[in-house]
Amino acid sequence: MTYKTVTLKRGKEESLKRFHPWVFSGAIAAADDTIEEGDLVTVYAHDGTLIGNGHSQIGSIAVRMLTFDDTAIDEAFFEQRLQDAYHMRQALGLQREDNNAYRLVHGEGDFLPGLVVDIYGPTAVMQAHSPGMHFARNIIAQALAKLPGVNNVYYKSETTLPYMAHLDPVNDYIIGHMETDEALENGLRFHVDWLKGQKTGFFVDQRENRRLLEHYSQGRRVLNMFCYTGGFSVYALRGGAQLVHSVDSSAKAVRLTDDNVSLNYGDQEGRHKSFAEDAFKFLDNMEAGQYDLVILDPPAFAKHKSALHNALVGYRRLNAKALEKMPHGSILFTFSCSQAVNKEQFRLAVFSAAAQTRRRVRILHQLTQPADHPINIYHPEGEYLKGLVLYVE
Ligand code: SAH
Repeated sequence: MTYKTVTLKRGKEESLKRFHPWVFSGAIAAADDTIEEGDLVTVYAHDGTLIGNGHSQIGSIAVRMLTFDDTAIDEAFFEQRLQDAYHMRQALGLQREDNNAYRLVHGEGDFLPGLVVDIYGPTAVMQAHSPGMHFARNIIAQALAKLPGVNNVYYKSETTLPYMAHLDPVNDYIIGHMETDEALENGLRFHVDWLKGQKTGFFVDQRENRRLLEHYSQGRRVLNMFCYTGGFSVYALRGGAQLVHSVDSSAKAVRLTDDNVSLNYGDQEGRHKSFAEDAFKFLDNMEAGQYDLVILDPPAFAKHKSALHNALVGYRRLNAKALEKMPHGSILFTFSCSQAVNKEQFRLAVFSAAAQTRRRVRILHQLTQPADHPINIYHPEGEYLKGLVLYVE
């Protein structure tokens, strides 16, 4: 199979020799004029050595590498990569009687840059983040349907593709249809709204951290800030929390949370209440000492490196507002899912919040993303979720 070609400037092959999967536009010496966005290309070093095949894209990342040899990018390629991803999740034990929600494909972490697939029972929800994956969507869907247990493939890329590419993707089933919107996570039931919900409809990346929260919930008064579908709330209730208050600025998220609480505990669960309110306002208005277990899991404050400074100020302010009002002996689960903010920067923001409020704070756990969101060792940028569990006195 021959693809259009891209040749790198002298010396620009170094990171690719170490299997980093991105070719930046500034590294390119020459490229076929006929290359269009999403085309498959073969990348060569300056001296003509073949580096591998990838998807081309307009923007600062010009090629996302799929292979580091001359393997063709065809049905067999996608079938093999998806089978590898599936076998790895089998090894993790995520497909069980009490758990059928997990991430099957995590972009670069599964050597498929530009592709994300989450599994909810019989349905795979697939997102393309690159034009190349968009063009390959049908063969990817066919390959997904060959995996055990996958009956339906829903394609959801209306908000994930660069809109300048004018691909006009349509969110729809490529294979199958709506069978059930219910998924199981560690024995808890969740409605997952992949048709209208954020991302693929649910945040599977907090599964292990929710389980840890459950462990700390017995007898506690819990505030789940930025609750979205109420994941942490449902676990806190199972863990024996005295009360759980869930807050999200989106009224729809609050409805999803209420529905998921009802799904697990019926309509009469008097321990749970939800509020459609802004986080900062809610924290300003709440009484000191009202909650002794607080979760802060905000949306990414920095979507790009340029927003880093403001994001760090945001994390400091948010954490300070919570810490200020937490009673002696309380616990804070605090997170950042911004890829642009690293572990040290996030910890420094939380440190500043602690110092500013003059609280005695100790770190009980340092949390990250679970194993079904693997980090390709050659692509450290794939590490995005950071969390701290703090004991506050
Ligand atoms: N903790 C959730 C995921 C949170 S996603 C889980 O485990 O699944 C972030 C959520 O923050 C979204 O639902 C969004 O609606 C909400 N949000 C964004 N800005 C907010 C604000 N200023 N105040 C309260 N909620 C906000």
